[in-house]
Amino acid sequence: MTGRLRTLFSKLRWIAERVAAPLRTGDGPNKFRLSSVDTATTTYDGDIGWASRPPATVRCPQCDAEIFQHNARDDLDCPRCVGEFDPEAFGDLELLHLTCPVCRGRMEHGQRHPGSFDIPEWATCTSCRYHWEFEHSYD
Ligand SMILES: [Zn+2]
Ligand SMILES: [Zn+2]
Repeated sequence: MTGRLRTLFSKLRWIAERVAAPLRTGDGPNKFRLSSVDTATTTYDGDIGWASRPPATVRCPQCDAEIFQHNARDDLDCPRCVGEFDPEAFGDLELLHLTCPVCRGRMEHGQRHPGSFDIPEWATCTSCRYHWEFEHSYD
């Protein structure tokens, strides 16, 4: 290992320890400082926009089979019957769940404006905290 690489590695380890520190430390005297560190390091993995939507599983309206759609622009092809749907038909199909693109866990999803869309507007992974939003929130 070259000296330069070693320096890089020790730097990375230093950063990793800094990031992990607030998790290990309980309610210490430096609570204020710790919480500001917390805020700076709470960068969840996430995406915004329909094109970046997590993989979805919907129900085939013809045979009840589960159709997996990896990308929001893909056609929906039923693996069991001849059902084939355009990506635009997504809102007409029953959404079963979204799959976290990071850890493959099932995501919780919901709508910000119930009734105005037939599609999910947000999804959160309960395992790795990956979060997806249909659009920017200006709240
Ligand atoms: Zn089908
Ligand atoms: Zn996840």
